[in-house]
Amino acid sequence: MSDVKKFSELDLLAPLAQAVANKGYDTPTPIQARAIPPLLEGRDLLGCAQTGTGKTAAFALPVLQRMEKSGGRRRCIRTLVMTPTRELAAQINDSFEAYGKHLQMTSTVIFGGVSQKGQERALKRGPDILVATPGRLLDLMGQKLINLKNLEFFILDEADRMLDMGFIHDVRKVIAALPVKRQSLFFSATMPPAVTELARTMLTNPVRVDVAPDTLTADRVAQTMLYVDKDDKRHLLEKLLEDESIHRALVFSRTKHGADRICKQLDAKNISADAIHGNKSQNARTRALDAFRQGKLRVLVATDIAARGIDVDGVTHVINYDLPNEPESYVHRIGRTARAGKEGKAIAFCAGGEIEYLQEIERLIKQRVPVDTSHAFHSDDATKGMENGKRAETPTEKQARAQQESNSRRNKARAARGGAPRSKGKGGAPKAKAKGGAPKNHNRSHARSGGGRRG
Ligand code: AMP
Repeated sequence: MSDVKKFSELDLLAPLAQAVANKGYDTPTPIQARAIPPLLEGRDLLGCAQTGTGKTAAFALPVLQRMEKSGGRRRCIRTLVMTPTRELAAQINDSFEAYGKHLQMTSTVIFGGVSQKGQERALKRGPDILVATPGRLLDLMGQKLINLKNLEFFILDEADRMLDMGFIHDVRKVIAALPVKRQSLFFSATMPPAVTELARTMLTNPVRVDVAPDTLTADRVAQTMLYVDKDDKRHLLEKLLEDESIHRALVFSRTKHGADRICKQLDAKNISADAIHGNKSQNARTRALDAFRQGKLRVLVATDIAARGIDVDGVTHVINYDLPNEPESYVHRIGRTARAGKEGKAIAFCAGGEIEYLQEIERLIKQRVPVDTSHAFHSDDATKGMENGKRAETPTEKQARAQQESNSRRNKARAARGGAPRSKGKGGAPKAKAKGGAPKNHNRSHARSGGGRRG
């Protein structure tokens, strides 16, 4: 199955083959080559792959083909795609429209953050395919505006991110409302136990297709690591952007406030930039993304969640202004450049306090990121894990400290409520000691719940 070299070997119907040709694709990506044949046969699929691998076409083409072969347009929802972010939902819908261009079927997209009126109207027109984020989907299902009783194909996209974002209950509720007899496709970039368990409950005898993220990282993206002091990051970014070969740069910040700050600083230097993150309205996000797509913005600053699924051609550089607190995000981020076979550059800044993140990334991608020490803001201190002349607090230590502080605040409040004596001297606050100890071997999921990752 994986030996497929050309789309013409995939037995696609002429209108679909035509749409693929219109898009300019000649060779299926690995996930397309491996997933399309079993999907055309009606099998369930467990796909371990992320955006950037061509997975949208891997599910959209066979689903459209099966829908077309079994009757084409019927004005009822026969396919549901559920995906965590609005951007991704909009993009998947665009893909269905592009691949289904020569067919009669229609698709529509619904997500929160905008008025539901337009979505209601679109639903009344009877789309064959619905792409949705979980919250708005359940909301409209609750209002009886969506009927899924004719559903035949269900695609759960980015399952790991759904779980991370706290959508698990919503996902379960939707699944419970679907007809049992259906073809189900499940995609996730990573397969932690909770995701595997969800897949088990959703799929019947699935074909499994894995596209390793590190292949993408290793093969196509030229990566560089720049050590820099935290306070010099903004100067380093400005310096880098003097290079005019950076036509279209996606800059990643760990936090929403950080993203806004970077934008302001770039604006002040007359570098066209805008930010997308969870605090921005959907309209502002769409505007920024469109401007970036059209080349009116040179820099788009994003947080991880907002950037999920950003599909912009010609991103020449991904700049990790902050290293992500989960290594998988690094792979996602740099995958925004080098889309589908193109080459791209990824530059990361690493301050003294971020070395732990860097180590986790290198462990995941199974390679060392080449270091460039020749830039104007290189910091030897940062390479040694130092900040302002002192050893920098590591993310684990920072997390442990935050936890201790919060425990001690809680204990104090409790003591105040119960009238217990305040802990001052040595012998005080035994409770804080017993409970508040730093998680020695704190695992990543603790760190994950830290600030800023819900862009
Ligand atoms: P996806 O992983 O679905 O987000 O797709 C990533 C990008 O690859 C999108 O820009 C697609 O348009 C593009 N793409 C998908 N399949 C192919 C292909 N076979 N050849 C070239 N580009 C593709």
